[in-house]
Amino acid sequence: MDRYWFEGWYRDARKCPSPHFNARPTNEVSLLVIHNISLPAGCFGLPYIEQLFLGTLDCHADASFAELQGLEVSAHFLIRRDGEIVQFVSCDERAWHAGVSSFDGRIGCNDFAVGIELEGTDTSGYTDIQYQQLQQLTRELMTIYPMIVKARIVGHCDIAPGRKTDPGPGFDWQRYLAVV
Ligand SMILES: [Zn+2]
Repeated sequence: MDRYWFEGWYRDARKCPSPHFNARPTNEVSLLVIHNISLPAGCFGLPYIEQLFLGTLDCHADASFAELQGLEVSAHFLIRRDGEIVQFVSCDERAWHAGVSSFDGRIGCNDFAVGIELEGTDTSGYTDIQYQQLQQLTRELMTIYPMIVKARIVGHCDIAPGRKTDPGPGFDWQRYLAVV
């Protein structure tokens, strides 16, 4: 029994299974994509991100949610400002976080990527406990999916340039990668 994983689920995460996933085309898991999200934008600690990924978001709860109507998205993980890790999709399955994307000449990064959302915005910065939890989770991902190496840890902005900007200039890549 692996201390940290069971069938692609991380034991230290709160399990919150989303219907927004499907099978990977192969069992390759070789890319880690870092994102940010906040709902409404710039507001933290609210239940809306989880509801979005679970498909239960009331799109009338905030005027800015109108554009989210009918959107089916998910990520494998969300790391909240207080460090809580929530997992929505088994890493053995394909979550729907990258959208139109390419890495190293391959399109459709969801096929082979794990997606981690940090609760935040491009410019808000991230909390110390978020960095610690992200680093720990990354190390365990690299252990169980050895094709994920440092050179294959990217931001959403790197695989969808011109379309996405997250995790933004507020994310300290040097700090993050120094201890993974
Ligand atoms: Zn993103």
